[in-house]
Amino acid sequence: MTLPKTASTVIIGGGVVGCSIAYHLARRGLRDVVLLERETVGSGTTSKAAGGIRVQFPAETEIRFSLESIDVFARFADEFGVDPGYTKIGYLYLLAEEQQLRGFEPRIALQRKLGADVRVISPADAQKLVPALRVDDLIAAVWGPQDGMAGPAEVTTGFARRARELGVTIAEGMAVTALAMSNRRVTGVRTSQGAIAAPIVVNAAGPAAARVGRLAGLDLPVHPRRRHIFFTEPFPEIPGPVPLTSDVTSGFYFRKDMEQVLLSPGDVEDIGEDFDVPMDWGKVEELVRKAIHRLPIIADARIAGGWAGLRPLTPDDHAIIGWAPGVEGFFLAVGFGGHGFQHSPATGRYVAEWLVDGTPSLDLSLFDPGRFGAGRCGAATGRTRTR
Ligand SMILES: Cc1cc2nc3c(=O)[nH]c(=O)nc-3n(C[C@H](O)[C@H](O)[C@H](O)COP(=O)(O)OP(=O)(O)OC[C@H]3O[C@@H](n4cnc5c(N)ncnc54)[C@H](O)[C@@H]3O)c2cc1C
Repeated sequence: MTLPKTASTVIIGGGVVGCSIAYHLARRGLRDVVLLERETVGSGTTSKAAGGIRVQFPAETEIRFSLESIDVFARFADEFGVDPGYTKIGYLYLLAEEQQLRGFEPRIALQRKLGADVRVISPADAQKLVPALRVDDLIAAVWGPQDGMAGPAEVTTGFARRARELGVTIAEGMAVTALAMSNRRVTGVRTSQGAIAAPIVVNAAGPAAARVGRLAGLDLPVHPRRRHIFFTEPFPEIPGPVPLTSDVTSGFYFRKDMEQVLLSPGDVEDIGEDFDVPMDWGKVEELVRKAIHRLPIIADARIAGGWAGLRPLTPDDHAIIGWAPGVEGFFLAVGFGGHGFQHSPATGRYVAEWLVDGTPSLDLSLFDPGRFGAGRCGAATGRTRTR
């Protein structure tokens, strides 16, 4: 494909975040948007996501992101012509200690205040939802019936398809190798197949965000951490649907996926910046230990396979969204950890507002790129460089 020589905005990364931003920019009427993806659209960490969607976040902005995104997932098939298989299976958190419950209480109050349906229920009621659970060591559970799941691949395809229809150029197999800079201002990108001049460049590179940030001399605190998910052979002994059930003490979580059970040990592992993510089959032992404790009947199931992916974590577990400190024209939409898929609809909308209108209609200071001490970069800076 021949790359255009200029663009109004270049987006680096064709994961669910970059594709949502591309779609929303085009929807807002921005012309000449170019998205560059080094491999294929959706092949990054988005392809490893479990598809979970929850309102159960601690911060107001994230709860608002969830509520808005849930509305989008519910009408996704109509708006994007791709059925993402959105299902409200609910999220169930299992608590074994008073201290865990105390930690959950303020966020539940906030979630409810914002209109989310989240309730504390008894261990016996948790067992009614998932009869196979062991609950004798639990003190309570937190139940969010509004939570659910959808397909990350379908959602990414939907955003990318509509973005293309609205005029976005999406170039696959196109790695950004350098940023063109002039006096601490980004003026474009260089790729293996040519350069593009652009006044705005968006870093949506997922687990590679820090690497892309270094191209602009930035030290972004986005730390890719490996997580495994395994699946069983068809296991009718645990009939579906089953909520995404998370054992807060051990980090183990599971849900039903068609006929199989999807299970994760909840691992968080630094494997460096090697973006080929190898599986560690030794994790099965940890998984089985945690799983049998909470779900004894799973001892009868056979693990049929699994995968590992990188969650791009930040020190405070909140994403980084906003203008890069000290580098004009460089916008960051990175560090989405374990919730980038579910927050992609709202992220795209507010980033587009920021870039097109000069400021987002929702206060996004929670995600301020300057909060880690590298200097603040607020909406004022953004306002001066839009369009
Ligand atoms: C095991 C696991 C389970 C998860 N479960 C969930 C879940 O249930 N719910 C949820 O919401 N989230 C979940 N997540 C998190 C979710 O996958 C991520 O937060 C989300 O996919 C991030 O999307 P992204 O677009 O930022 O990153 P990516 O999908 O990685 O997209 C970034 C893209 O940038 C490209 N790129 C990188 N460098 C360059 C370059 N120099 N030039 C061009 N292109 C480049 C990459 O190839 C990649 O395709 C999970 C993650 C893992 C690992």
